[in-house]
Amino acid sequence: MKKIKSDKMILATPVIPLNSEIFDQKKVQVWMKREDLNHPHIQGNKWHKLKLNLAEAQQQGNNTLITFGGAYSNHIAATAVAGKRLGFETVGYIRGEELAEAKQKWSPTLINAEKNDMQLKFLNRKEYRLKATPAFIKKIEEIHPNAYLIPEGGTNSLAIAGFKSMADEIQQQLPNWTHLFVAVGTGGTLAGLVKHLKPKKNQIVIGIPTANQYEYLIDDINHYLEPHFYEAWYFQTPKLSLRYGKIFPKITQTISNFKTEFNILLDPVYTARMVYEFLQALEQNQIPENAKVLLIHTGGLQGGG
Ligand SMILES: *Cc1c(COP(=O)(O)O)cnc(C)c1O
Repeated sequence: MKKIKSDKMILATPVIPLNSEIFDQKKVQVWMKREDLNHPHIQGNKWHKLKLNLAEAQQQGNNTLITFGGAYSNHIAATAVAGKRLGFETVGYIRGEELAEAKQKWSPTLINAEKNDMQLKFLNRKEYRLKATPAFIKKIEEIHPNAYLIPEGGTNSLAIAGFKSMADEIQQQLPNWTHLFVAVGTGGTLAGLVKHLKPKKNQIVIGIPTANQYEYLIDDINHYLEPHFYEAWYFQTPKLSLRYGKIFPKITQTISNFKTEFNILLDPVYTARMVYEFLQALEQNQIPENAKVLLIHTGGLQGGG
């Protein structure tokens, strides 16, 4: 196995100001933290979640990484690339047994994961729902001895710890932010940021959900936080009705406007929704004058190889 210290493979990313007439009218200042630029091949929040887990797997002498995801999962893509570069075998358990026999229906994510030598195994919906149960995990550990298991979406306590470096950068780059917007899938990124940013009284972290069901995530997120910080964040109720991964015309429009105005590419599942909902909040005067808003670009552009 190659001896790369996985937690050292990380680039500092800029916080850049976004200048726009609408922000001037509303008397707010807006910045974007460009975590899409944090790693040439595994960009975005998924790399922060993986890096300490991979260091731990190396430490334990595991030669295989096993994880779970849907056909378009950024986490599957990131694990395949990271595993290959660090010399791990990788196995991805993918939701959707129908894909096993139908390669022509594979998403670009799956095609690339396989190109990066990830072994793909397909589960039906029922099996997939049971994937975190002790019985299922035991079965997997029997099939793959010496493997390191990473949960769906990559969120566990090492993943949360992985956000310290990004939080430290933000504290240096924009210590006086007042409103921080971040897209939420499992909530690991939000939890990691709140935990390490330790928001002050005049600072609030706002999570933008990306799926219909998100109330249950409140406990998942707070589980990683000291009670003192339960009030340091909240979910903004989305204006767009949510179906995970559904790409509404308003999202496509947001992506194209953002590209034109700021020359920054957003992904349709997470960051474009986050920007859209931020703009809605702004329009409805939910952001006070003089706010210093920090938008987190969590990546999700599975371009790199
Ligand atoms: C996975 C992902 C998220 C959600 O991260 P969680 O830690 O699961 O909440 C947000 N943005 C992008 C681009 C992602 O790929």
